[in-house]
Amino acid sequence: MDNIVEIFGSNVFNDSVMRERLPKDTYKALKSTMREGSTIDSSIADEVASAMKDWAIEKGATHFTHWFQPLTGITAEKHDSFIAPTDDDRIIMEFSGKELIKGEPDASSFPSGGLRATFEARGYTAWDPSSYAFVKDKTLCIPTAFCSYCGDALDKKTPLLRSMDAINKQALRIVKLFGYKDVKRVNTTVGPEQEYFLVDKKMYDLRPDLIFCGRTLIGTMPPKGQEMDDHYFGVIKPRVAAFMRDLDNELWKLGVLAKTEHNEVAPAQHELAPIFTTSNIAADHNQLTMELMKKTAERHGLVCLLHEKPFDGVNGSGKHNNWSLSTDTGINMLSPGKNPSENKLFLLTLSAVITAVDKHQDLLRISVATAGNDHRLGANEAPPAIISIFLGDELTDILESVEKGTHHDNAERVKMSIGSDIIPYIRKDNTDRNRTSPFAFTGNKFEFRMLGSASSISDTNVIMNTMIADVFSQFADRLEKAKDFDSEVTAIIRESIIKHKRIIFNGDGYSEDWQAEAEKRGLLNLPSTVDAVPRLSSEENIALFERHKVLSRAEITSRVDILLENYSKTVHIEALTMIDMMNRDVIPAITAYTDRLCKAVYDKKRISESIDSSVEKELISRLSAANTEIYHLTADLKMAVSKAEKIDDMTEKSRFYHDSVIRLMEDIRCYADSAESVVSKDCWPYPSYGDLLFKI
Ligand code: ADP
Ligand code: MG
Repeated sequence: MDNIVEIFGSNVFNDSVMRERLPKDTYKALKSTMREGSTIDSSIADEVASAMKDWAIEKGATHFTHWFQPLTGITAEKHDSFIAPTDDDRIIMEFSGKELIKGEPDASSFPSGGLRATFEARGYTAWDPSSYAFVKDKTLCIPTAFCSYCGDALDKKTPLLRSMDAINKQALRIVKLFGYKDVKRVNTTVGPEQEYFLVDKKMYDLRPDLIFCGRTLIGTMPPKGQEMDDHYFGVIKPRVAAFMRDLDNELWKLGVLAKTEHNEVAPAQHELAPIFTTSNIAADHNQLTMELMKKTAERHGLVCLLHEKPFDGVNGSGKHNNWSLSTDTGINMLSPGKNPSENKLFLLTLSAVITAVDKHQDLLRISVATAGNDHRLGANEAPPAIISIFLGDELTDILESVEKGTHHDNAERVKMSIGSDIIPYIRKDNTDRNRTSPFAFTGNKFEFRMLGSASSISDTNVIMNTMIADVFSQFADRLEKAKDFDSEVTAIIRESIIKHKRIIFNGDGYSEDWQAEAEKRGLLNLPSTVDAVPRLSSEENIALFERHKVLSRAEITSRVDILLENYSKTVHIEALTMIDMMNRDVIPAITAYTDRLCKAVYDKKRISESIDSSVEKELISRLSAANTEIYHLTADLKMAVSKAEKIDDMTEKSRFYHDSVIRLMEDIRCYADSAESVVSKDCWPYPSYGDLLFKI
């Protein structure tokens, strides 16, 4: 292996490269733009562009691209070469500040939810100097935001940057009130843990469902699943280990802080966790991580499945969004501090999170709503679709004592009350034990665990930043007017706890009791994407996003449309794939095997009437019955799909896919799976779950 220290960030136009290659003044100007999130001065752009180009060419780049994240959820690139003709018929390599700052991809086919009428198909991309440019596949990639000509956001990055500004603005008010006058910027930090499956490429190629849908539409569990818990943190197989080494290397070159790689609960499931960084960069890096997982897997004869539920009956994959807030002077606002004033800031921040999560349960749920993730949430493996917060006993005790105005005595008998004493260090093992909570405090950050493995982390972070910014702004309004600052802080914390403590739940989030208990507490339970997404455009939510200039009414309604459209398209493709698999593979396979059985019965009979053929006959009748059901249900599914296609209204359409199309697919699956479990292996057209999960 190469020297890690040397390769880390070697393909990134990062701080040390900038310092080395940019004129001092240019470097300084660029840095302050990056630090304070201000707009770039166009006069320095040319110098930056030229230095970037020279550096990229040295790294082997011939092209550049504005790298952006349209609402499809994956990244997009359009490559242009650096070449420019000269008068004497030769070429030079050119890259101007204008090209760096702004691009105009022909982007008419990206989803806009009606924001960009087709006659004005052009959107533009705008350089995001807060995320470093990098070289990938001989191309200089410039992280950019993607907007319509009128400035409407058409991507995932723009609202994320806006939400970071919104929370910065409000959090700054708070920290200033606490006397931290030197703070210039408060950033949200994120460490997203990424789960994924690896399967053998040769077997993958034999499954149309994996190829077209990223998940299996049929398949029965092998005799051994994850019951033994022997995969979790188990020894990594050599082929997988080689993949992980290679992946780490690729990520390190791009400056992604890939830190831990290990096996997950399900067989063939793994996880990668990076070291946290600011939200914007974390989101970019997570997109790169997903892309490189797929590419690297191919080089190892593997396929990386990022789908939330590739296999029924086996744990699905998610992402854990570890989130906190920190000042440019290094204070983590969710870290219980070492002195009373840091403690108060911590408790106030905690109260803001509790308040925001309780008030905006719907938004958090919406932020993770996709067709794929619907298979996970609420099944007994992932957090339920109900949002609640896990704080751990220690912190819950502390909040209770604040609520009651008493002193808190923890196990080590450290006394605490707000304003005078010190909050004990919150031990990590105290907080990290509960894996069933969707939103858990883990020592110095919150971990939101409902995200789907295939989605961008942007949506969730836009929502977290905005809703917490909103609560901060209300807190700051009160505190700025307060005569007695300390007692107002205490009052706010106390009121927040009293009003929002229903959202705190330290028990088992997977249990049925919790569903009933949550309902009693009045917590929201939005089981599916079609239940959740339409609520995004409620007047209350529109007002929230407009108040903080994160999303406009038009941007929100377009997003609702796109989310529901993505949902419908996904189910649509799955249904068509299933129809094809049934008609062309499964039904013929069952017929072929039944035919073989019939011949066997006939042959036996020819040898002697007395030979028993009851097994064959029983199988023939079961399989024939199943095949009849599959045939008719597949015809029904085909009709349902054409009916769905004719529905214009997006809400109605997605509802129909959810209620009718998915239901039929589940029924078909039942019969196909029962057939698979008795049809001879050599007759079945697809590699089995056993092959896919255990033969790497
Ligand atoms: P685990 O959850 O396995 O115990 P850690 O708590 O060390 O592991 O970290 C989980 C993830 O949380 C990592 O990606 C880590 O970088 C991230 N993380 C740690 N501190 C913060 C923070 N202040 N803000 C955001 N993410 C953080
Ligand atoms: Mg974790």
